[in-house]
Amino acid sequence: MAMTTTCDVAIVGAGLGGCFLALLLGRNGHNVVVVEQGPAIPAAGADFVKRPGMGVLARHGLGSLVERHALKRDIVRYYHDGEAIQECRYPDGFLIRPYRELVEVIYSCCSMQGVEFWFDSQIERLEHDGDRVARLVLADGRELRPGVVIAADGSRSMVRQALGITQETSAYPHIMRVATVPLTASVARLNRLYFNSDGWFSYLYPINEEQARVFIGLPLEDEREVFADGLAVDAVKDLITDNDDAYDVLGPAHWQRIPVSAMRAPAYHRGNAALLGSAAFACHPMTGMGMSYTMHDAEILAGVIGAAEGDPVLLEKGLETAYEPRRHAHAELIGYGDALAGTFHDKAAYLGVFREDLHVFGDTEPTGGGFVTVLR
Ligand SMILES: Cc1cc2nc3c(=O)[nH]c(=O)nc-3n(C[C@H](O)[C@H](O)[C@H](O)COP(=O)(O)OP(=O)(O)OC[C@H]3O[C@@H](n4cnc5c(N)ncnc54)[C@H](O)[C@@H]3O)c2cc1C
Repeated sequence: MAMTTTCDVAIVGAGLGGCFLALLLGRNGHNVVVVEQGPAIPAAGADFVKRPGMGVLARHGLGSLVERHALKRDIVRYYHDGEAIQECRYPDGFLIRPYRELVEVIYSCCSMQGVEFWFDSQIERLEHDGDRVARLVLADGRELRPGVVIAADGSRSMVRQALGITQETSAYPHIMRVATVPLTASVARLNRLYFNSDGWFSYLYPINEEQARVFIGLPLEDEREVFADGLAVDAVKDLITDNDDAYDVLGPAHWQRIPVSAMRAPAYHRGNAALLGSAAFACHPMTGMGMSYTMHDAEILAGVIGAAEGDPVLLEKGLETAYEPRRHAHAELIGYGDALAGTFHDKAAYLGVFREDLHVFGDTEPTGGGFVTVLR
């Protein structure tokens, strides 16, 4: 006979969204099961927590825990065709902490709240009772009977598909490569973001006292040539002009290939199920806001689920009135990412679409202004 577990909330996916929501719900006394297909929490994701995310972490007493091993920066310098064009200042700074470490901090707090994690567990199908998900059936025969289901299972979300929620994905006309390299003095000094007239871009920043992360984005045809046999460093010397001490570490690096897309969904909930994080939306990584918005979304979801107190009618009403409007904030962010990505080749157009309010404050209230200094 199938082993059936009843829980208040089943969360599919143990990434940042799933773990953070599990923590908030666990703290509020909800009985939560997180189902994760992998053997552990995921390793790959973003590095930046900006103002909205820092605010969420602080509101839940996690600010200092996350900051303790994070780097805090407050300036990014931008270059076009090799020349510095502007600096963006963050009055509260922003945090750099590798995704795996950030999720690990949150995950370890979950165990103190009695949240159950089922790793190496695959959902086979969802069984519905009308609009509501009545049961999650796992590949190994176990079953979950949840009051609420959260799809936090990433951009290819199986749960979103099973709910019948469509999505619109648009691939950007460039491929990104990312590498982790030894930290050099120039990268330790300043975060630098480069663009050029060919639509190439690159971002270099430290992730700890010894290592740096480097992104290089190129149109598909250029990417094939520049990365034909590892990175042809000479090809990026006119792009990455103020980090010449990094050239020696870029060549031997292992460059992972990352196709980037924007993703929009027309609805974030159906019945007793809701989408969270990359299952709900994806924006261009150069906005640097994906994680921050996801944590804010988890906070709203935790509030809705808590206020419903197990009442399905109140739950649906809360999801409709308090959670669905998040699509507007996401749409603005996605549109902003699209605008940035479409102007990397054109300095004037890029400076024209750059929005310091969204870049620095995201969906929080801006305090003052004038944090962008145009250098040329
Ligand atoms: C290259 C890149 C750079 C980025 N840069 C930034 C940045 O600078 N700042 C920022 O804030 N955001 C950034 N983002 C976005 C950020 O990484 C996401 O917002 C964040 O990872 C969302 O977390 P998540 O929990 O929704 O998804 P994920 O971290 O993708 O977690 C999903 C989890 O679900 C699991 N899963 C999938 N399917 C199933 C299944 N069927 N059953 C069980 N488990 C399943 C997966 O194994 C995974 O563990 C970036 C993203 C990318 C790709």
